[in-house]
Amino acid sequence: MSISHTYGPGKFGLSFELFPPKTPAGEQEMFRHLEHLMAFRPSYVTCTYGAGGSTRDKTLDIVTQARRRFGVPVASHLTCVGSTVDELRAYLAEAAERGVDHIVALRGDPPRGETNFRPVEGGLRYASELVDLVRREFGQFGIAVAGYPETHQEAVSPQADLENLRRKVEAGGDIVITQLFYVNDDFFRFRERCWQLGIRAPIVPGILPVTNLAQIQRITSMCGAHLPAQLSKALSAAEDDADRQFEAGIAFATGQVQELVDAGIPGLHFYVLNKSPATTAVLRGVRLPAASA
Ligand code: FAD
Repeated sequence: MSISHTYGPGKFGLSFELFPPKTPAGEQEMFRHLEHLMAFRPSYVTCTYGAGGSTRDKTLDIVTQARRRFGVPVASHLTCVGSTVDELRAYLAEAAERGVDHIVALRGDPPRGETNFRPVEGGLRYASELVDLVRREFGQFGIAVAGYPETHQEAVSPQADLENLRRKVEAGGDIVITQLFYVNDDFFRFRERCWQLGIRAPIVPGILPVTNLAQIQRITSMCGAHLPAQLSKALSAAEDDADRQFEAGIAFATGQVQELVDAGIPGLHFYVLNKSPATTAVLRGVRLPAASA
């Protein structure tokens, strides 16, 4: 099924994002957690693509295994970082050969310590160019692109960032998956502005439940997401108790997701971080539209 058919009237798309584990033991653990998550019958499972293509083979390996073990459609993330167009083509050809269903087409971040993204010679500068490549030469893939409810950190303005998103969709992006966020009003404003700009692709919220205090610092430094004081306070109040921190984080995420569902989102994308308890607790706590049950 094409990725856009996952969403739409009477449907609700659910996707889970993994990352390539560093060790065989980590990989085993990840698949154990994924097996639990399969109870929610996701529409597809994705795996990230590491900085500089460092996880190139691993990403393909994880999605191929997930497809084989669970019969679930899969998406490989792919970035422009460190690759020429010919190398990107070779990756896409191999993904097609292995039966990968969709591509999450991204530019990627500049290497650590650098603030500006510089393409390699013969490479691509923006995700929109990658979308264009995939659409023109690998028409069988569904394509997801990244959207930023709080605006991408390098964008010259929110408007320029939205116009870039429109470019990615016009180039062939079927759906938009958002960066994680914790203030639903940021998402609602972003969605409204996308609609005003004529972006008609399904806009799927990216959700990462925060379940401990240490995560807050990491999330803020990683993507600059704004964390509501209410969430930080609830986690701080449970400072010495990991279980209570988990419960506080889940209570917040469940409320956040329920409000999004009630506001008519087409689906949910969970950054599951290779684990199942947080996503399971949230999904058990929300009332999803009937089609997804
Ligand atoms: P782009 O859409 O190319 O945008 C990058 C910046 O350039 C933006 O500021 C944009 O406004 C600006 N821009 C774009 N086009 C133009 C133009 N023509 N003129 C001027 N400015 C322009 N990273 C990984 O390394 N691996 C992953 O697997 C991965 N998965 C992700 C999954 C999701 C759902 C999301 C939301 C992010 C993911 N990322 C991943 C992070 C992503 O790579 C970074 O956020 C990156 O900095 C931007 O990627 P992009 O695809 O949004 O880039």
